[in-house]
Amino acid sequence: MIVIMISAPRRRALTALTAVGASAALVLTAAACSSDSGAGSGSAEGAVVTSFYPLQFATEQITGSALPVTSLTKPGAEPHDLELAPQDVAGLTKARLVIYADGFQPAVDDAMAQVDPSRVLDIADAASLTLPASQDGHDHSGESAAAHAEHSADDPHFWLDPQRYAAVAKAIGARLAKDDPAKAATYAANTDAFVAKLTALDGEFAKGLASCRSKVLVTSHAAFGYLAKRYGLEQHGISGISPDAEPSAAALQEISDLVRNEGVTTIFQETLVEPKFAQTVATSTGAKLGTLDPIEGITTESAGKDYFEVMRSNLGALQQGLGCS
Ligand SMILES: [Zn+2]
Repeated sequence: MIVIMISAPRRRALTALTAVGASAALVLTAAACSSDSGAGSGSAEGAVVTSFYPLQFATEQITGSALPVTSLTKPGAEPHDLELAPQDVAGLTKARLVIYADGFQPAVDDAMAQVDPSRVLDIADAASLTLPASQDGHDHSGESAAAHAEHSADDPHFWLDPQRYAAVAKAIGARLAKDDPAKAATYAANTDAFVAKLTALDGEFAKGLASCRSKVLVTSHAAFGYLAKRYGLEQHGISGISPDAEPSAAALQEISDLVRNEGVTTIFQETLVEPKFAQTVATSTGAKLGTLDPIEGITTESAGKDYFEVMRSNLGALQQGLGCS
């Protein structure tokens, strides 16, 4: 039921097409060429179109097999700087429902102007995006004001906090039930089951991170603010909220000093972005590199086949890197 279109890898989609993925990609590209923009599928007539992986995954869990669900961001593409071709935007207007998070992907925000508002669900309110985008432990003096403003005012990474993700799932379930009353009971039951799994995951994180040698979480891109807040950690992002933002020399120095002063032993890089700056900090401080996945997409290189598996991999990496017992 899921339409996944894979076009040629772009700049940041380095991990998308491994040897394993390449043959599948060739077949799919031949079947349905999209623009080389990171866009996954814009021509989902009658489908529920979601803007990126966590919204796609939640929606699939809730619809079961009742409705086709697609994602605008193809697997392996970095979603922050998604670009949409005119045909992608035109496709959006044929969707049954478009589910997105306002303020996360500028191209999607722009496209919403052309979609009937009665067929759009913005989950930004349900996600209660209370952390400002700048709250990543270092200032943004190295960025231009325009580059910073582009990130939007709020940290969008709600799905890395299972409680926020559950609230979003409930909003999606309620909306699907409202639009399709005949299947309301199914959507409600599926939502409850999904929320129960998120609640269990939340419990595992709370328990697993309760007793750690260090609470200082140094990450390559500041995607883990809500997770850190939920479980009492202190996040310091090297690249800020968007992995595109290049840290200044002063910001790198500041992070390196923090790593030394706090005795941080692990710098966490992420899966979709080259570890250049994390590597710089690790090399200059003698810290090790660990991997945390912000789960903005699942690829063959992800440490699991879905959100839950990758979150549990993240928990293991955090426990090891922070010395949790
Ligand atoms: Zn991100």
